Amino acid sequence: MLIILTGLPGVGKSTFSKNLAKVLSKNNIDIIILGSDLIRESFPIWKEKYEEFIRKTTHNLIDNALKNYWVIVDDTNYYNSMRRDLINIAKKYNKNYAIIYLKAPLDVLIKRNIERGEKIPNEVIKKMYEKFDEPGKKYKWDEPFLIIDTTKDIDLENIAKKLIEKSKEIPKFYIEDENKNKNDNIFDKIDKETRKIVSEYIKSCKFSKDKIKDIIELRKEFLRKIKKIEDIDVDNALKEFKNILDNY
Ligand code: ADP
Ligand code: MG
Repeated sequence: MLIILTGLPGVGKSTFSKNLAKVLSKNNIDIIILGSDLIRESFPIWKEKYEEFIRKTTHNLIDNALKNYWVIVDDTNYYNSMRRDLINIAKKYNKNYAIIYLKAPLDVLIKRNIERGEKIPNEVIKKMYEKFDEPGKKYKWDEPFLIIDTTKDIDLENIAKKLIEKSKEIPKFYIEDENKNKNDNIFDKIDKETRKIVSEYIKSCKFSKDKIKDIIELRKEFLRKIKKIEDIDVDNALKEFKNILDNY
């Protein structure tokens, strides 16, 4: 079984991992906690250029461990693409997975961050909080198995029971084939880029409120149309969108 934690720094992932692993091991489950911090902290200092190695090595460790053990991934797993990569490891070995989303209000995260010596600037936590890719918002495979509020009591026995039950199910993978993943990524990109184009476009001229509404509706319509197309080329799609705006 692969347990994928997701949640912001200070939410309580490492604490939760240790406590949950203890309860599960009492139930005779061989379980290991892995996360990128293990490798990251093995360097005396941090450099951006180490990150690729950190990511790959963490993945290799998880991949290797999952053959024999339950694995808890103790990481922020901030983007759904990170969770997708992990689920693909579970898929490779046909193991069940469960996303556990740990949550706490921003002021609690900031308070805990300060108590830990503010190694991550509070501003960064705030930005991450605003931009956090809520699991399951976009994709079915990304839906959390459990959502845990870490400001409340955590019933570990009950969580362990649920996970053990889940581990006995036949694994289901909602991750569509690679092609679908590719299309999802392409769609995300077009979504983002057209948003930028619209905002530039609106800034470039003084449009009335009604016109702005029209432009926003044009973008929505365009995205609906794009969604139905099998093989999308990003550049062509963006060109077409710009044309639509120019014609408008
Ligand atoms: P993360 O691994 O998500 O960054 P940690 O588990 O290291 O978070 O916890 C961050 C801080 O919050 C620690 O000081 C820890 O003692 C505290 N903490 C963790 N879980 C809880 C909880 N459920 N209730 C209150 N404080 C907690
Ligand atoms: Mg931690």
